[in-house]
Amino acid sequence: MIEKNSKNIIPIIYHEGYSTEFPIEHRFVMRKFPLLVEVLQKEGILSENNLYTPNLINREDLLLAHEKSYVDRVLTANLSKEELREMGLPYSPGLIDRVLWEVSGTILAGEIALKYGIACNAGGGTHHAHPSKASGFCIFNDIATAVRVLQFRKKIKTALIIDLDVHQGDGNNAFFGEDNSVFVFSMHGEKNFPLRKVKGDLDIALPDEIGDLEYMNILREALPEILNKFSPDLVFYDAGIDPFEGDTLGKLSLSEQGLLDRDIYVLTTLHNLSLPVATVIGGGYDKDHYALANRHGIIFRAAERVFGF
Ligand SMILES: [Zn+2]
Repeated sequence: MIEKNSKNIIPIIYHEGYSTEFPIEHRFVMRKFPLLVEVLQKEGILSENNLYTPNLINREDLLLAHEKSYVDRVLTANLSKEELREMGLPYSPGLIDRVLWEVSGTILAGEIALKYGIACNAGGGTHHAHPSKASGFCIFNDIATAVRVLQFRKKIKTALIIDLDVHQGDGNNAFFGEDNSVFVFSMHGEKNFPLRKVKGDLDIALPDEIGDLEYMNILREALPEILNKFSPDLVFYDAGIDPFEGDTLGKLSLSEQGLLDRDIYVLTTLHNLSLPVATVIGGGYDKDHYALANRHGIIFRAAERVFGF
């Protein structure tokens, strides 16, 4: 576990390859990754002392999770029109590289979390990606790949995914639906994307416009119950900020304080049980890119609060 009262102690994973050239008006805000890093540096949460950079994932590791012909279609730019439409992003070689970096970062976050108890990736959360298809801005599934790689390397046997992005992680469930070694918990907007949900181990569908108090009551009931039944070797936490009231794709009504309380609650609960946790930033959509980056800083502030002081 991390030594208390030292500065910049939360391991943060980032690589400048997380972003690439991209249309600035697109709903997916590519700039949010470098902007988030700026926010974290300004606040003294990130320095060279606690920055970890991943090595780029190789094809073999990707194939531990994803289906071979899909991986090759992506890597050789041979996705069909229909597949590209479902992906929802303009294809470019840089786009594929950035996803590979992000997946690499989440694998590293898992490894470092096993060592120090906590690690936060300044990216990740591509939870709509299925074993053999892209969907909803997600091409390769970072958490699913990290789980499979860490299982293959015998670093973990079991994992819990806590997915609080406002959209259901249908991709996560497509990977682990039949797999008892991985428990997938999702709280998401009932009427939001994806239209067709894929069943997970615990799905809580929320009505539109639910606020801080109601949201926290549901979470406080669900999470301890899961942890009573299932004791994972490692937790991956998708701290998506799109339940925020001003999010352009969210439909819920959480405040920024509500998101901070949520993240502190999740991390405190895991910390109290000495369960290592790797966090990813997940979804967040806002025309104000600076406000968005600042909001993605919440999970890092929560981590520092819970693990740092
Ligand atoms: Zn989302």
